[in-house]
Amino acid sequence: MALKGLDIFKLTPKTNCKDCGSPTCMAFAMKVAQGAVPLEKCPHLSDEVKAQLSEATAPPMKTIKVGAGNNEHTLGGETVLFRHEKTLVSKNLYAVKVSSGMDDAANEAVFAAIPGLDYERIGERMYVEFIYVDYAAGSDKGKYLELVKKAASMDRALVLNCADPAVAKEALEIAKEGKPILNGATAANCDEMNALAKEYGVTLGVSGADLNELHDTVAKLEAAGNKNLILDVGTASIKEAFGNAVQIRRASVKDGDRTFGYPSLVNIAELAPGDDTLQAALAAMFTLKYGSILVMSGMSYAQALPLYGLRQNIYTDPQKPMKVEPGIYPVNGADENAICALTVDFALTYFVVSGELERSGVPVNFLITDAGGYSVLTAWAAGKLSASSIAKFFQEKDIEGKIKNRTLLIPGKVAVLKGEIEEKLPGWNIVVAPNEAIQIVKFLKDMNK
Ligand code: SF4
Repeated sequence: MALKGLDIFKLTPKTNCKDCGSPTCMAFAMKVAQGAVPLEKCPHLSDEVKAQLSEATAPPMKTIKVGAGNNEHTLGGETVLFRHEKTLVSKNLYAVKVSSGMDDAANEAVFAAIPGLDYERIGERMYVEFIYVDYAAGSDKGKYLELVKKAASMDRALVLNCADPAVAKEALEIAKEGKPILNGATAANCDEMNALAKEYGVTLGVSGADLNELHDTVAKLEAAGNKNLILDVGTASIKEAFGNAVQIRRASVKDGDRTFGYPSLVNIAELAPGDDTLQAALAAMFTLKYGSILVMSGMSYAQALPLYGLRQNIYTDPQKPMKVEPGIYPVNGADENAICALTVDFALTYFVVSGELERSGVPVNFLITDAGGYSVLTAWAAGKLSASSIAKFFQEKDIEGKIKNRTLLIPGKVAVLKGEIEEKLPGWNIVVAPNEAIQIVKFLKDMNK
């Protein structure tokens, strides 16, 4: 049961020493209760109090680390049902499925497509994070292990879906370096699967015939000391899988049922086999509610663009402006002789304008000034983008020492700053660029004629 701020306050030293960064012990206790700061911020809590509080103040859903190295991912840790309540913590991740029950050509096509889908959007890498390697009932063990070998060489995290402990052990032996998720624990095999997961130090995926059975199996695994789990919502039907995903999240976040406080896995490939359009629609639904890993038959650009965009919108903190680092960004091979174009550090502005600059083919030194992460007009209205702030940026980044060309394009929306900038930057030719990014290509080409 989650503790209230007052309960936590009673256990603090009540000295108001401020070492935790909060002005009083009460303020600290309230922040801990909201999950805003960790207990460890107070260096004066006894081990006994820490032990007493750590379980009670932990998020209702556990944070699980899976994979290794570059392919390590964090799942879970959520504290709310909806994004408007609080920022969601761990974005859901996408997997593509290969299976010993599929023919070789189909598996090869899935493998071949994985490296091709890898792009950046507003500073975030968009790619298929997981390969789900399925051991189909009655299929050839040798073929499965070959698939595991191939998947382990693909520089992605793995989910090994295998309910046969003997085969799972061989698969884990092949893929153990990458710390895969072992999915396939059930009421019938959970003891052996638990022993395997512990031996290899990997996360165990659990499923059940229904939610009651799943709950009982998870409780049994927890009693055996395993709290490194992920819950498979099942594939009986779309309706049931969705209902399970929602009930599991509600039970953990709203009702404080920590037995269901784990990330989830949704096998969309099984829910809509052979129907890519329905799979994309289901992936959108489970991105919103409440799949942590979504397994699809494959991922094309047509599926990825809307899905990854949706995910980025859902998991971005709306209270934090998305910023890029201020500095000089050479575009199209620009050197010290290329013209300069300046804009603000709002990430969306940067990516939209840099895309148009690239499209023009004209070498440009793209200058990003610190404007608090606001868009051009907002930054100007808030006093964060002015002739003085631009002159300061030029000085701090030594623009005149690094670039010989003395032509500077400023955003059309702040054309009003032209005169003041000319005064602050003598010797520079200040040119007002178009209002809209899409007009930049023609504008630059015309300038270069
Ligand atoms: S560091 Fe601990 S004792 Fe000091 S103010 Fe913070 S909560 Fe209170």
